[in-house]
Formats: sequence, C-alpha cells, structure tokens
Amino acid sequence: MKLVTYQMLNSHELRTGIWVSKYEVIDVAAEAAARQSQLNVTTMLDVIDGGAETLALLAEIKNSPKTTPVLLNSALLKAPIPRPRKNVFCVGWNYLDHFSEGAASMQDSRELPQWPVFFSKASTAVTGPYDAIPFNANVSTQLDWEVELGVVLGKAGKNITEADAMSHVFGYTVINDVTWRDIQRRHGGQWDKGKSLDGTCPMGPCIVTADALDPNDLHVECRVSNVVKQQSNTKHLYFKIPRLIRDLSLGQTLEAGDIISTGTPEGVGFARKPPEWMRPGDLLETEIRGIGVMRNPVGQM
Ligand code: MG
Repeated sequence: MKLVTYQMLNSHELRTGIWVSKYEVIDVAAEAAARQSQLNVTTMLDVIDGGAETLALLAEIKNSPKTTPVLLNSALLKAPIPRPRKNVFCVGWNYLDHFSEGAASMQDSRELPQWPVFFSKASTAVTGPYDAIPFNANVSTQLDWEVELGVVLGKAGKNITEADAMSHVFGYTVINDVTWRDIQRRHGGQWDKGKSLDGTCPMGPCIVTADALDPNDLHVECRVSNVVKQQSNTKHLYFKIPRLIRDLSLGQTLEAGDIISTGTPEGVGFARKPPEWMRPGDLLETEIRGIGVMRNPVGQM
C-alpha cells in the first residue's frame, strides 16, 4: 500500500490517505468511521502506532468495492510524516562512489569505514514533496542535493539484531538530504547544522508499506532542472538496512515513526568540477522507482 498525508482545498486540515492512483486517495479516517472502527487513524503516526491491526483495516478499506476515492490535486500531498517525533536519523558515506568522490574533492586518502556515520536532521526541516525549498543568499549560496531512501520504523526496539531488524520496518519513502554545504563544513565537522535548515528535508510523496516493496533493488535518481545529477540503485548501499538498524539501536531506543535516511550516491554538487549549487528557479526532482517522484522548486525565502 502507498500511504499519504494530504490536505484538501480550502482547508488546513491534514488527512491520512491510501494513494490508489495519481489523482485519487482514499480518506482513511472517513472510511474507518463508516465501518464504526475504534482504531485511531487520524495521522500517519497513529496508523504506524496501530501496527498490524490497523494495517489490516486499511487493506480491507482499500480492497472494498464500497470505497469511494477522493480526487486529489497532487500539489496537496504533504510529507507523509509532516512533523516526526524526533530528528530524522541520517547516514553519511553509504555508497562507495560517493565516498570516493568526497575523498577526492577533499584530497585525502581515507580508508573505507568500518562503521556507518550517523548524524541527524531537525524534525522542523521536514517539508512536502512539492513544497518550495527556501533560498536566502544571506544565509548561504551553496545549496546541494542528496537523493536517499528513507526507512520508516513501525516498531520500537533497542539492541535490535540484524536478523530481527526488518521486522521493525513499517515502510519506505523518498528523502532529499538537502544540504547547505559551507554551513555543514564550518561547524567543527558536525553536520547537523548545515543539514537542518528549514525546508532541507523534502519527504514523500508517500510511504510504501514494507510488504509491498523490496528495498534492496530500487533505482534512485536526482535531477536539477531536468539534468540528471545522481543515478544509482539501493543494491549499492554499503551498509545495508539491517546493519544500520543494528548499529543505531545499540544501547539506544528506536521508536515507531522514527525515520532513517540511508545515505546518498555519487553525483552531488560539491564534488563536481567546478562545484555546482542550486539557485532560485531551479527544480529539484528526487525519484525512487517504486515509491515516487518529488518535485521541489527552489525559491526565495
Ligand atoms: Mg546524506
């Protein structure tokens, strides 16, 4: 199933939906109420918290001939989890080619990592799959792109084993780990600041539930104003999803609704010669086949 958070015209209220075709969603709360269900399906986090019982209700709703989809303007799709409960966990250097281009641009000869690099993006950085990315030249002009597979957890845990890790996954989404590159670098090597400015975490357009997608062979691509900048496949992830969950949960509680952005492949702007940055008027397209495409214009703040 593809699950979305959407907004109806003339309303600020966010609703949870099952995305059944390009312009059609099923209003989950309305259909649950029609069935007199007591399950809370108001927000995506409610759906995730509800576990298998709630997913079974959604499957029943989706497959029912009585269900009437709502027509949707795609611009009204929001980030599937518009405000996560905590920062988005992120992984650095998780495709070998990106590791190499980073080492080359820094002119060093670092060794392959034994452990994943973890950092996070502020929950307030999350923005919708079609929302504008704010640009303010007084803040920075080095606006870079990073297409990444996002993993959404559905079950809490600590000290999770690799063998058990995938049972903690609720589903998958597309994330662009948008980065203000000079800000990322100038704070003593701590990446959080340059990756946490408002609008730097486009997410969406949906969450595909784990039962419906194999995350190990997905084409990932990033385009800036119709020019392909990044193209790879999740089969090239250096640290696979179970290893990431194992290492991240070591001595640390992970919760339902937590999001892990799994790292970006080669082709980012800073490593190009000369370096390339996005400018106002550019269109950032972030795609993972099997999940969807986000289209974020770069706009003035
Ligand atoms: Mg990244």
